[in-house]
Amino acid sequence: MRDVCKSYAAELERLKESGSLRILPQGQHSGKWIVSGGRWMLNLSSNDYLGLAADNRLREEFMQLPYMTSLPFSSSSSRLLTGNFDIYNTLEEKLAAMYGRESALVLSSGYHMNSGILPALCDRDTLILADKLVHASLIDGIRLCEGRCIRFRHQDYDQVENILVKEAAAYGRIFIVTESIFSMDGDLAPLHRLVELKRKWPSVMLYVDEAHAVGVRGENGLGLAEECGCIGDIDLLCGTFGKALASVGAYVICDRVIREYLVNKMRTLIFTTALPPVNVAWSLFIMERLPQFRERREHLARISSMLREAFAMQGLLMPSESHIIPMITGSSADAVLRAEEMQRKGFYVLPIRPPTVPEGTSRLRFSLTAALDSSDIERLTDKNGR
Ligand code: PMP
Repeated sequence: MRDVCKSYAAELERLKESGSLRILPQGQHSGKWIVSGGRWMLNLSSNDYLGLAADNRLREEFMQLPYMTSLPFSSSSSRLLTGNFDIYNTLEEKLAAMYGRESALVLSSGYHMNSGILPALCDRDTLILADKLVHASLIDGIRLCEGRCIRFRHQDYDQVENILVKEAAAYGRIFIVTESIFSMDGDLAPLHRLVELKRKWPSVMLYVDEAHAVGVRGENGLGLAEECGCIGDIDLLCGTFGKALASVGAYVICDRVIREYLVNKMRTLIFTTALPPVNVAWSLFIMERLPQFRERREHLARISSMLREAFAMQGLLMPSESHIIPMITGSSADAVLRAEEMQRKGFYVLPIRPPTVPEGTSRLRFSLTAALDSSDIERLTDKNGR
């Protein structure tokens, strides 16, 4: 090993000793199963919340579309150069129409979205108020911002209000940033409270990341804002295609002026190759069918409440109100041991450790999909896990 790399090796050793070393897991997918080391395990770690990625019939239907064979596998350019194929505009028009809003902008991933929007929209006259538990991609975006940021205690909107009382007059614009379903606790942001704050403070803009709610919540699967009837109140309503929508990329629903501003200023849109048209067409194919997946949404809601209730009966702390259900162990070493035990019993659950979650709150994260059935949940909650 070169001397210059020795400190990396030492850090890796330290991570290993504390149970925090990460490795890239291997596994083959087969419907709701994952096969690793010759063992078949129920996949309880996937973001394929509606079971669409595992649905071969849908894929075959898509492959048979007449225009399918002419879709390029690369856009070969940024959208601002030659990468803006017609299919992008079709998808954005469809999104804007479904949400009943002026416009939508499609981006390469949720990470590009969250690390790019705030740096584009914030200047020194901007204050960002971000929930303590927002996703790493949002935190990275905030780090790139010129404005000031205050992280408020998770879901503590009284604290947000106090900050607004003290600080609002000093700033031209204030972003309140949250996820709608939190990725690691599965709890829900009370969007109506955010909307009340916005009504009270005219300089407030709401930024809501619906990565884990799109597809899953709302009458038509548009997310928690649809369920709460406040789509029109969220200034930056963000969704991703890579989870329940079984594709890749992300989108923001916003007013036309914001879209135009982002096209001009958002570095993670301007300086990256656009998504391949074939993927964009698949996203459109799924979006067109999204309202029809109501049965899958209802089934997912049913099995999720089964698991949450079973865990709560075992005395586990249960913040979740969704299909993302944590089993908090505290120490990383415990989380690793519990995950290994679950895997031995045929349930593919992974340990989640700092820095993904705060120190001392390591956990197993069960993320349920509509591909599971209630007997799977019964087996899982049977103490012996057979
Ligand atoms: N936002 C949240 C809340 C997420 O959990 C994730 C991914 N886990 C992202 C954004 C990033 O999305 P993508 O995977 O499309 O980059």
